[in-house]
Amino acid sequence: MTIPAPQTMGQQFGRRSWAEPWKIKMVEPLRVITREDRARALAAAGYNTFLLPSDDVYIDLLTDSGTNAMSDRQWAGMMLGDEAYAGSRNFYHLEEAVQTTYGYQYLVPTHQGRGAEHLLSQAVIKQGDVIPGNMYFTTTRLHQELAGGSFVDVIIDEAHDPTSLHPFKGNVDLGKVEAVIQRVGADKVPYVSLAGTVNMAGGQPVSMQNVRELRALTDRYGVKIYLDATRMVENAFFIQEREPGYADKSIAAILREFCDYTDGAWISAKKDSLVNIGGWLAVRDFDLFEELRNLVVIYEGLHTYGGLAGRDMEAMAIGIAESVQDEHVRARIGQVRYLGELLTDWGIPIVQPVGGHAIFLDARRIYPHLPQDEFPSQTLAAELYLDSGIRSMERGIVSAGRDPKTGDHYRPKLELTRLTIPRRVYTQAHMDVVAESVKAVYDARETTRGLRMVYEPKYLRFFQARFERL
Ligand SMILES: *Cc1c(COP(=O)(O)O)cnc(C)c1O
Repeated sequence: MTIPAPQTMGQQFGRRSWAEPWKIKMVEPLRVITREDRARALAAAGYNTFLLPSDDVYIDLLTDSGTNAMSDRQWAGMMLGDEAYAGSRNFYHLEEAVQTTYGYQYLVPTHQGRGAEHLLSQAVIKQGDVIPGNMYFTTTRLHQELAGGSFVDVIIDEAHDPTSLHPFKGNVDLGKVEAVIQRVGADKVPYVSLAGTVNMAGGQPVSMQNVRELRALTDRYGVKIYLDATRMVENAFFIQEREPGYADKSIAAILREFCDYTDGAWISAKKDSLVNIGGWLAVRDFDLFEELRNLVVIYEGLHTYGGLAGRDMEAMAIGIAESVQDEHVRARIGQVRYLGELLTDWGIPIVQPVGGHAIFLDARRIYPHLPQDEFPSQTLAAELYLDSGIRSMERGIVSAGRDPKTGDHYRPKLELTRLTIPRRVYTQAHMDVVAESVKAVYDARETTRGLRMVYEPKYLRFFQARFERL
């Protein structure tokens, strides 16, 4: 399939190129250290980009989480923080933003996304339950497992193939969901864990038709759908672009329609919502809300602040409104695509089609000589840092962790290194520099050696594991 270029502000003036719908008011200097210093820093960090001090990083593409640039309106909102312990005015602003934009009635704020995952998992998962989901996310699955559940991947097979051009590689395979429900019984399936866009598959979207059909299927069995809406705004863009009948609908309308098929959602506001910290969980069911409101005071804070300052909630409320503006989403995804097109033109293997928030380099195809046990994606992230000071993230066997039952590595088909683009932070010239560095590392691929893991934490090992060069 061919994916049309995003409709852009440029098109209004009869040009094809897009441009950011903002200009820069404040700048933050960047620093580049020498190659010798980078080599030292990398060894000291155990070849794990999570362990590098950010002062030693030039262009930081580790994550799009909490790395957003806030607008002048959001900064102004920070000054309007009502830091009352209970009933902060900013909570009510946030509640209204979530109700109008996402459509869920009852809101529980949390300090970030995993706080919400923790509460939801503790509230609805019982020992022995099974949670089907469209590919796992690290913190989501761990909270489901810690609550006594086990996760079953029900994403379509195409999602595991980095070369498949399926337009909605995040889709749920309805046959797989039904098979799970029939095998274990609907009473053992507390909910389907649906995510849009799917990070671990390369930022791939779910179609409106898929969620509509999933709703019909789960209704027949009385199973709930809870949505990881962390990157649902970006998912809405792909629906607008690719799904028949949605080209003329706004991002906001598409997002709302999608959410309307689900029973509730959680979010890490550090992604789509254009803030540096925050999250929430929102549901339609009052009884569940009461349970969540009870739990939040134990783990996060009172139900009107959930571990956040009033000013954080205000910035989030404003960020939610800015995040669904069509021009914003187009420029955001346009920048990710610009980088993807450069790399594709140069023949560098990346996950196709390019997703919403990042470029995923296909380390398996870049380093065919490295077995998965020598951590090809981790190696690629280390080489990129060494070459140029660009920081990326492993999304392969290290991130996948170990099967708690067998103790062996989970062995994901996808062995990827992620270049994640922060929202509204870097320019097109930065993207050129990134592409050139990836090319340099790619050209040196044949002589690159792998890594050995020398320290492995028990949980979410990718954050703190240490390696040595083989
Ligand atoms: C980041 C993220 C989370 C977890 O949120 P945090 O704010 O990092 O705790 C959950 N799901 C998805 C899809 C994410 O990208």
